[in-house]
Amino acid sequence: MTAIARHLELVQQRIRAACLRCGRDPGTVELVAVSKTRPPQDIIEAFQAGQLIFGENYVQELTAKADAIAEPVNWHFIGHLQSNKVRQIAGRISLIHSVDRLSLAQELSRQWGRLGQTCNLLVQVNVSGETTKSGTTAEEALTLVRAVAELPHLRVQGLMTMPPFFDAPEEARPFFRELRQLAEKIRDEQIPGVAMDQLSMGMSGDFEVAIEEGATLVRVGTAIFGER
Ligand SMILES: *Cc1c(COP(=O)(O)O)cnc(C)c1O
Repeated sequence: MTAIARHLELVQQRIRAACLRCGRDPGTVELVAVSKTRPPQDIIEAFQAGQLIFGENYVQELTAKADAIAEPVNWHFIGHLQSNKVRQIAGRISLIHSVDRLSLAQELSRQWGRLGQTCNLLVQVNVSGETTKSGTTAEEALTLVRAVAELPHLRVQGLMTMPPFFDAPEEARPFFRELRQLAEKIRDEQIPGVAMDQLSMGMSGDFEVAIEEGATLVRVGTAIFGER
């Protein structure tokens, strides 16, 4: 067994344990293996060990890897996305976690529409208000979701957040909880075409706390592939 396969198994065990601790079905949490800066070989190794979803942050890196890897991996885009690069990834990504402005959603709609496909996306919310983080504000999230839902060729599936970095994972809990409550509030609006059943939150240092607060997608890099 390779180191990556071992780490994956460990992370999956921790996901299951966190689910059982809080009474959730482990089948409701999906692991996104964050493979930024990692070579294609690491991704293939993880795929062969059963990992299907990989998260990338940079368009150029993603397209280079997607071209190099023949295995049918499922790509998620989790980084800041510039509108002028959307065309390069159109149709190749099964979920975009980081939609934080209407102009980006318009370009996603245009480019996926050209292919006759639907783009699945999450709206990224900066719940902490840190100026260094991207994401719409908690106050503006509902307005953005409403506007995005008006566009064709898009499906809003939920929200994503990145809390501030803490040494103690417990400190991230209030931010995860706020994202869940925000998603519930938006769900109550019953906006046509908006599902709001996906919460992308939790990374290597805090994914168990995120699961306890309702995460359905955890984005884990270091705990699988090692330090970057
Ligand atoms: C890099 C990254 C991760 C993974 O972080 P780790 O601490 O390595 O698990 C998750 N989400 C986003 C948006 C990232 O950029």
